[in-house]
Amino acid sequence: MTGPAQPRPGFPWQRAATGANLLSPDGSLGVTIFEEMTTLALSTGAINLGQGFPDEDGPVEIKEAAQAAIAAGANQYAPGKGILPLREAISVHQQRFYGLAPDPQTEIIVTTGATEAIAASLLALVGPGDEVLTFEPFYDSYGAIIGLSGATHVTAPLLAPDFMPDLAALEAAFSPRTKVVLVNNPHNPTGAVFPREVLQRVVELAERHDAVIITDEVYEHLTFGVQHIPVATLPGAAERTLTISSAGKTFSFTGWKIGWLSGPEHLVAAARTVKQFLSYSSGTPFQAAIALGLGLPDEFYTGIADTLRYKRDILSEGLRAAGLDVLTPQGTYFVNVDTSPLGITDSVELARRLPALVGVAAIPVPVFCHADGAERTRSLLRFAFCKQLYVLEEAAERLATLWDRL
Ligand code: PMP
Ligand code: GLN
Repeated sequence: MTGPAQPRPGFPWQRAATGANLLSPDGSLGVTIFEEMTTLALSTGAINLGQGFPDEDGPVEIKEAAQAAIAAGANQYAPGKGILPLREAISVHQQRFYGLAPDPQTEIIVTTGATEAIAASLLALVGPGDEVLTFEPFYDSYGAIIGLSGATHVTAPLLAPDFMPDLAALEAAFSPRTKVVLVNNPHNPTGAVFPREVLQRVVELAERHDAVIITDEVYEHLTFGVQHIPVATLPGAAERTLTISSAGKTFSFTGWKIGWLSGPEHLVAAARTVKQFLSYSSGTPFQAAIALGLGLPDEFYTGIADTLRYKRDILSEGLRAAGLDVLTPQGTYFVNVDTSPLGITDSVELARRLPALVGVAAIPVPVFCHADGAERTRSLLRFAFCKQLYVLEEAAERLATLWDRL
């Protein structure tokens, strides 16, 4: 007789040998890089510039709306596709900022964060034999879900210092098996914001290969002096594009896990079918509150971008003073540095030591890559700057001592 069934070691994407397991000493560690670095920051008392979450809550009126919704009894399952007022607010928001007008009844669903929107749409659209194309570095859940789906993950590199794709390499990465091209713009972890010509090229190549575009635009409002262009607004894109966003980034409520996706009815219906069996529905009282948030005036949206830009500059100054090469981001709340001026060639190892060395935690960029990309990015580290100014200033002071402590 055999004993009870044992879990297979490692995540599926680890078995697929992506870079996502670089910090797993035995290849079987079941936590993400974000969880691992946050745990390390907590155990060492380090300032956590690793996992990207703000250290201040979002607007008080949104919090009060959630509290009021709970008090009023909005505490049971929401409809699977989300409460109508939120779907309406998402549609109005897209009309207001981008001139898009998805139908709240058939072309929008609310999800449990962007993470679930990514999972539901990929699991709905791809399987073994299909290829999903992403840029590299790529957000960690992409590799995980593509692995779970059984599809093959193909990448096109984004190269430092500006992390723009080589368009010929992008074209070469498409194949007759490309079923989905998964874009992330503004881009985590690099902070790149893609210009119109790059996005238009993605659309043309997707059209040529009859691929669906899934576009993760969770940082849509976090750009610094450059315009965010939603893929769905480009010629030829709307009929083949699923757009994903999240309240976590825009409103600083990452713990509420309210996200959404929108696009043509047949694609949204496919994702909704899968979503039913992932979470069925998403936090009811938070949905009402985010509906209110989406209607906040323009000053709110410009205010968050201006504040983050200032924080980016404060942290960047500190990182430069520490002798690191700063790769200035145009969007998101992440800044990457090249540590090679300090003689460092392995940012994964440095990230593990950094909290004990100087009391700051960061994320090594190679973990967002497959093997070749990990090699290309092996001296890069990502710092989050969605923190209060005094925290960033203290982090900069601590990092200034790095050279002496290495
Ligand atoms: N996509 C990207 C590019 C992200 O950076 C994140 C998280 N920060 C997510 C998706 C996940 O968003 P959520 O927390 O809404 O699930
Ligand atoms: N998106 C956040 C980041 O890139 C982390 C979210 C998570 O922990 N899954 O830091």
